[in-house]
Amino acid sequence: MSRKTHFEGGLVVTPAGAEQLDILIDGEQIVRVGHGLQDDALDAQRVDARGLAILPGLIDVHVHLREPGGEHKETIATGAWAAAVGGFTSICAMPNTDPPIDDPAGVGYVVAQGRRAGAARVYPVGAVSVGQKGERLTLIGEMIDAGAVAITDDGLPVADSGLMRLALEYSSTFGIPVADHCEDPTLSRGGSMNEGIVSTRLGITGIPSAAENVMIARDLFLAELTGGRLHIQHVSTRNGVEMIRAAKGRGVAVTAEATPHHFTLTDEAVIGYRTEAKVNPPLRTADDVAAVREGIRDGTLDCIATDHAPHHYDEKEQAFEDAPFGLVGLETALALGLTELVDGGVLGLPDLIDRMSTAPARAFGLPAGTLREGAPADVTVFDVGEEWTVDPDRLVSKSRNTPFAGRGVRGRTRLTIVGGHVVWSADQGVEHARQQARRRG
Ligand SMILES: [Zn+2]
Repeated sequence: MSRKTHFEGGLVVTPAGAEQLDILIDGEQIVRVGHGLQDDALDAQRVDARGLAILPGLIDVHVHLREPGGEHKETIATGAWAAAVGGFTSICAMPNTDPPIDDPAGVGYVVAQGRRAGAARVYPVGAVSVGQKGERLTLIGEMIDAGAVAITDDGLPVADSGLMRLALEYSSTFGIPVADHCEDPTLSRGGSMNEGIVSTRLGITGIPSAAENVMIARDLFLAELTGGRLHIQHVSTRNGVEMIRAAKGRGVAVTAEATPHHFTLTDEAVIGYRTEAKVNPPLRTADDVAAVREGIRDGTLDCIATDHAPHHYDEKEQAFEDAPFGLVGLETALALGLTELVDGGVLGLPDLIDRMSTAPARAFGLPAGTLREGAPADVTVFDVGEEWTVDPDRLVSKSRNTPFAGRGVRGRTRLTIVGGHVVWSADQGVEHARQQARRRG
């Protein structure tokens, strides 16, 4: 028996533009997109989408789910549900768990737990090196067979240039990207925030932009040398953006991402020793933020990714230097994109959806990021007009470490549909999502 849903009169937003159209979903697929589909939709459940935006489901290529080993911060289930509440239909789980995801069994575990969660699709990213020790390459082909869509040692850089070269060479035979957290550990050692006027004033040891820049430069040269596909994670510096732009100009196979916090906040967010603004790479200067925004606008930075990094309250309550790096981002990303970038005049809504859905799908080779007929029905229905205030206590994530508490934003997810199933509806409330995550964790 067919299971059809007819979305009527919504504003369909894709990278190609925004137009009021109907969408018909049958089973797991989008079957029709067009004007006045009533005749094809007689046996369908009708959803009045007037006044709402219909988007290809959002994709986050950089998420930390903490399972196995850090379940007090997040589980695959709580992360996948937080993602669905934020409008994400696919997320890529970083391998820096305990133990790290560095073999086919670990990859298979993430796949299985992701399915069990029944929310956003969870795609594992395997480690570059065994144990993330930076010494020996993992069995990349076997991890791909088990479901890995990319490799990275994120949390850490691939500090050994020879190993990074090998990773790019091997992965290119499989057509997957090597994602790198660009940081020269000998330059960042001991640092807790951006090195500059603010760090001097606060008396906190800084991490210079150069720590990120030298690694981005190295990786771009290695991508050029090997022909491998490089993905640069969480770009935060002006020089980084400019080097990536130049490399793309000469044909290097590189994609890159920026986070909502790096396009919204500067290192001044740390003033008051606010550990919720302690993140790696650190929040930088207003000039860096401007460069990141320009990079997102012109597509130098292909993707917006959250680097969702949950931490327990007690861990973030420590002295600034001792607190862990990272903040949660899945449930605020789309609203921050709309408020900061679209309302801020950086780009239009269709380009924002490109950076949050279509471009990430392309970068990581995921079968999503489109509302084309025949595509999997991964769809986000979004109320562009709803204004709300970020409240950490209303997050579905197990952790509350956001620097955006109390911030007024615009735009909220109403429905998240994965493979034709409504997995999240705002009418159900966050408590429902929490219960589901707990039950399926
Ligand atoms: Zn990282």
